[in-house]
Amino acid sequence: MAHMALEMSESLEERCNRILRDMEGSLTARDRVGIQDFVLLDAYTSESAVLDNLRKRFNENLIYTYIGTLLVSVNPYKELGIYTKKQMDIYMGVNFFELPPHIYALADNVYRTMLTETNNHFILISGESGAGKTEASKKILQFYAVSCPSTKLLDNVRDRLLLSNPVLEAFGNAKTLKNDNSSRFGKYMDIQFDHMGGAVGGHILSYLLEKSRVVHQNHGERSFHIFYQLVEGGEEDLLRWLGLERNCQRYSYLVQGECAKVSSVNDKSDWKTVRKALSVIEFSESNIESLFAIIASVLHLGNAMFVADSQGYATLNNSPEIHWLSKLLGIPAQVIQVGLTHRKIEARSEEVLSPFTVDQAVYAKDALAKAIYGRTFTWLVNELNESLANKDSSRKTVIGLLDIYGFEVFSVNSFEQFCINYCNEKLQQLFIQLTLKSEQEEYEMEGIEWESVPYFNNKIICDLVEEKFKGIISVLDEECLRPGEATDMTFLEKLEEKMGGHPHFVTHKLADQKTRKTLERGDFRLLHYAGEVTYCVVGFLDKNNDLLYRNIKEVMRQSKNAIVKHCFPSTEPDSKKRPETVATQFKSSLVGLTEILMSKEPWYVRCMKPNEGKQPGLFDDVLVRHQVKYLGLMEHLRVRRAGFAYRRRYEIFLQRYKPLCPDTWPNWKGTAAEGVECLIKHLGYKPDEYKMGRTKIFIRHPRTLFATEDAFEVC
Ligand code: ADP
Ligand code: MG
Repeated sequence: MAHMALEMSESLEERCNRILRDMEGSLTARDRVGIQDFVLLDAYTSESAVLDNLRKRFNENLIYTYIGTLLVSVNPYKELGIYTKKQMDIYMGVNFFELPPHIYALADNVYRTMLTETNNHFILISGESGAGKTEASKKILQFYAVSCPSTKLLDNVRDRLLLSNPVLEAFGNAKTLKNDNSSRFGKYMDIQFDHMGGAVGGHILSYLLEKSRVVHQNHGERSFHIFYQLVEGGEEDLLRWLGLERNCQRYSYLVQGECAKVSSVNDKSDWKTVRKALSVIEFSESNIESLFAIIASVLHLGNAMFVADSQGYATLNNSPEIHWLSKLLGIPAQVIQVGLTHRKIEARSEEVLSPFTVDQAVYAKDALAKAIYGRTFTWLVNELNESLANKDSSRKTVIGLLDIYGFEVFSVNSFEQFCINYCNEKLQQLFIQLTLKSEQEEYEMEGIEWESVPYFNNKIICDLVEEKFKGIISVLDEECLRPGEATDMTFLEKLEEKMGGHPHFVTHKLADQKTRKTLERGDFRLLHYAGEVTYCVVGFLDKNNDLLYRNIKEVMRQSKNAIVKHCFPSTEPDSKKRPETVATQFKSSLVGLTEILMSKEPWYVRCMKPNEGKQPGLFDDVLVRHQVKYLGLMEHLRVRRAGFAYRRRYEIFLQRYKPLCPDTWPNWKGTAAEGVECLIKHLGYKPDEYKMGRTKIFIRHPRTLFATEDAFEVC
């Protein structure tokens, strides 16, 4: 509305001046800052031209560029001052091409389309770890929170929506080598709007938290932020009550990566934010206490040291950790002690306790720590959903935000990377289906002939991973069904048997001589759409099984801690029946996600990393070129250009260019389509340069539009 008022009060001259100022369409500006929409690039098939344009813009601190309505973003690794309230106001209600590209422009366009078409949308934010996905999703959420119409009642919803973020990040993010604030879970968040456009609720789905991080971190990495926040920022009284010292070095689970302190992260002030957020979201004080008791318990558990008795069995006598665990979880010390050092087995229809060796006890302890943390995380997401839920049953439309872990390659890649990269394959597959599909549909709907574009379809890799009976996950599950016999190595051998000859799968044994040198015997390599990744099979079976012994679950069930009690319900089926494996559960959750997304209108943000060093101002050509390739930008661009590079709704086209024709300026009386017809006749468009669709004008070559833009500048 604000913008419409601005338009009405503007004279033609002012308007032209403003657009001239803002537009980067003029030749000189184009030389310096590149082009703001790749679709308008003459050499659109050239990767180098795309790269040049990105670099030019990056060097001018212009991190955003469009491909039609897709937004490409390059992480600047510095504050640009472009996310102010003033910027939000500028972008509100403005069409894409009228202002320089911005994440707010995308957010605003999605929002307005949702309101006018009353349908559901989602924004898929993709890119590798550290490319800026989470930041982008936060900017979008902030834009809605600030710019949507609000009431006193809705202010509350808005605060909760915003504050759910720091809470989720505290529990689900961690420092990795790629990103100091890396999301270690996938997040899909629906923001619900009423028919007036007010944000009235939200819902979060989380995907596969990397809980192995609780007990182990690679060098240079940390566990989840919340642990460090509590130890560094927790109030004296609280720490005393939890039996914690203010020293991360004291906790075995926090120092595996030897970098408890991170310069870019302020655990102390983050603690305050999280603490405040929990209150605003209306977690009860008793729930908050239980939550911190759990975090502390995990730390105590990590410090529990087993020693071997004379028979070589694990013991844990009189350890102070057991005392604290007992106090914080509300379980008798003796019960915990026995639970951690034995497992229940069935012998001749009788249940007996069999003692653990020290190694077995350490394993069981780590499994427990992971289970407690993982289940608490699930509980937390449910609580957030409770708090964000809108109980009013009137019709709502939603905008979904998908911020899921990006493609990941480390020097050693394990089961977690396998799942994360599989997920990225699935999203790429969805992107292919939706972009090609929607493009095709648009041509059909507008009654315009369609020309198909060749592209790499990564379905073959998705199948390799997930196909029933044949895929890697199936083989892994099969091996998990043979406890005692199967090992990570037998899993690898089975893979070699089944996958031998597959163009995207290779191992030491299957490789040619040259490749063999780059592979260890315990590795398999997948040729992902985004590049090669070598996975080390060690731990695959274990992590996929994610076993927690039955008796330790029974111990947890006795807990007086309300959250633990909730997370280990007595109704949980006993492990006599096999639970689904982690990979299979993940696979099903991705099927669910795909269904959710397919029912909505897609929008995309493609995030890129300019360098590996998290440095501002450094544009690494090789690295960016690689991302341009695998993010499918060239294909997307080709698809957008295959038929007609440019399309606009008649109303919008007319609104922008009507000053160019005396018949259409200032007011055109007929339909918008007729107005456009009149306008382009006046401009001298040749018949083969454009097509009139049902609701839009399609322009074949960008140069036609450039000419129009240039004419516009002169006017
Ligand atoms: P991802 O979620 O893709 O792994 P993040 O969104 O966490 O990556 O971004 C990593 C880091 O990069 C952030 O912590 C921030 O320091 C920086 N960053 C990302 N996007 C921006 C941006 N638009 N402006 C400034 N810095 C950014
Ligand atoms: Mg992230």
